[in-house]
Amino acid sequence: MKFGTVLVTGGAGFIGGNFVHMLINELGAKVINLDCLTYAGNMVTLEPVAGNPKHIFVKGDIRDRKLVRSLLAESKPEAIVNFAAESHVDRSIDSPGDFIQTNVLGSFELLEAARGHWGDLTGADRDRFRFLHVSTDEVYGSLGGTGLFNESSPYSPNSPYAASKAASDHLVRAYHHTYGLPAIITNCSNNYGPYQYPEKLIPLAIYKALSGKPIPVYGDGGNVRDWLYVKDHCHAIWSVLQKGAPGQTYNVGGNGERTNIQVVRAICKILDELMPDSPNAPHEKLITHVADRPGHDRRYAIDASKIGEQTGWAAKQTFEQGLKNTVIWYIENKKWADTVMAGEYKGERLGLAKGE
Ligand code: NAD
Repeated sequence: MKFGTVLVTGGAGFIGGNFVHMLINELGAKVINLDCLTYAGNMVTLEPVAGNPKHIFVKGDIRDRKLVRSLLAESKPEAIVNFAAESHVDRSIDSPGDFIQTNVLGSFELLEAARGHWGDLTGADRDRFRFLHVSTDEVYGSLGGTGLFNESSPYSPNSPYAASKAASDHLVRAYHHTYGLPAIITNCSNNYGPYQYPEKLIPLAIYKALSGKPIPVYGDGGNVRDWLYVKDHCHAIWSVLQKGAPGQTYNVGGNGERTNIQVVRAICKILDELMPDSPNAPHEKLITHVADRPGHDRRYAIDASKIGEQTGWAAKQTFEQGLKNTVIWYIENKKWADTVMAGEYKGERLGLAKGE
């Protein structure tokens, strides 16, 4: 295997956690997992790899350049995959400063550590090394009723979250262009699946529905996202690591366009089927339209032909099956949800632009 040891940042979060499970349990790689454990990072997510000698967890911040340099020097990974971020648009509306700190400054410090480390490598080690930055389609802004984002779409971020990710993408690009760092960016559409903290649409809707509480739908519910099952995203990142070219960006998406209201109705229907005797059935009666998100982008959709052509990757999971798996996972893993929701946040509305 080309990448026997990988430094993963943000590997106690949703996508990073799934990626760490895949690297260790499916691919047999060794992982140095650097995560500072914000509200979104939880050790309970790492139970599937707990005790595995191939998993080395380090509680630390990507802004700590010295720490990252020492981890790189000690473990000599062939790749860094950067998931660490503040990732929730609503929180970026309330507290944009946190997003600048981690997504912009943190990515910069990580790039500096990677540049220093890569500069010390020679021969095959230097040729093989990759820095993969995990980003989002939100950097492209909002689409109208038609069209798809491709890798040439202009950046036009609208939320503080999207702007902070766009800034980090530009830094990564510049480190390749200026210093030759073998960096790659992936821009992915909305993910869903196991281990997602219940603050974003799908896990929050499931969490609320299971507890018989109103399921909030922003505005008219007509905003469109291109949903991708998290495990498909993890495999896409692995494909890009193996076969992607340094300096390139790859859009990742699963042709899974749905409006928010379609998604929430589908969750309610699955719950009705799985739990016909629930006092909350029919779950659709819990759907409640609430004030829209300020600056809410209307539509995102991805043209993923480049990654398909260059790496052979394609999404495997249909939205219907992936969503059903996800609902079942949240029913069966209530303990996980209770553990991660033991902090301050209890599912209340965020991001109404009331200021810090
Ligand atoms: P998440 O919020 O679930 O997890 C983020 C993780 O990063 C957490 O474990 C957190 O503790 C850690 N972290 C935060 N700040 C850190 C810091 N300064 N140092 C070290 N660790 C830190 O996020 P996610 O949904 O898994 O997203 C992962 C990445 O994928 C992000 O970069 C995000 O922008 C990108 N992305 C997410 C989606 C999506 O739908 N969730 C879609 C496309 C791209």
